[in-house]
Amino acid sequence: MTAIAQLFSQLYTKTMVLLAILLLELVLLIRYFKSDAQTITPTQYLKLIEEKNPTIRFTRRLKPPENTDQCRVCLSEFEEGEKVRNLKCKHTFHKDCLDKWLQQCLATCPLCRNKVLPDKVVARYRRLQNQVENDGNHDQIMILVSALRGENQIS
Ligand SMILES: [Zn+2]
Ligand SMILES: [Zn+2]
Repeated sequence: MTAIAQLFSQLYTKTMVLLAILLLELVLLIRYFKSDAQTITPTQYLKLIEEKNPTIRFTRRLKPPENTDQCRVCLSEFEEGEKVRNLKCKHTFHKDCLDKWLQQCLATCPLCRNKVLPDKVVARYRRLQNQVENDGNHDQIMILVSALRGENQIS
């Protein structure tokens, strides 16, 4: 009787481990599809920046009085005809400098911290960035899954 009881208990443990693995894989699959639909790629992100703050050519005549002659990201002076973006807060930066800043740092004006893009957009963009960074995390889960599987085979 005890032998049968042991067999059942072993069978029960195996089934539970298997169910746990299946559940974990399901969660990963759902997370993958869900996050994919809610993220913004760097190209889409740049397109949104362009829509909100179109690239213009710098001319000394158009320079608003609030601006200095410098791009405060790279600290070099604007040259006539350079590609710049004029933000809503009236601060002007080189197009390339600002785009790099917005992608790597915060989606705010480097000078006055005024929001350049809506929070929702930024969150969706950051989600993709986090996913790339969390790839190691995903690997760890997969190691856990294979470890559980290995254990299952030994017992
Ligand atoms: Zn610059
Ligand atoms: Zn500003």
